[in-house]
Amino acid sequence: MQDQEYFKQKLLQRKQELSDRIDKIDKDIRHEGMSADWGEQALERENDEVLESLGNASEIELARIKHALQRIEADEYFYCSECGEEIPAARLELLPYSTLCVNCAEKLERN
Ligand SMILES: [Zn+2]
Repeated sequence: MQDQEYFKQKLLQRKQELSDRIDKIDKDIRHEGMSADWGEQALERENDEVLESLGNASEIELARIKHALQRIEADEYFYCSECGEEIPAARLELLPYSTLCVNCAEKLERN
């Protein structure tokens, strides 16, 4: 029997980190008061693009984590969503939002 609670806590912690980061990025993008200087404005726009792509990556990971948490609630977390084989804890330790066993993940990558 694998320790579901351990991974649940791990996922919840990561979910919190990502939510905080997304909040912070949102606030940074909506910075108030425009700079008078044109050069500075251009720099800020570039900065916003970087922040936005960072935000997107965080949103994607957050969606995966939420999905993994649903799988925990459904008692499916330790089983591959493709073949139903057990996913080794070592793999989940590295990729807590993984939904596939190593074999299926490799098969999907090859296709
Ligand atoms: Zn599998």
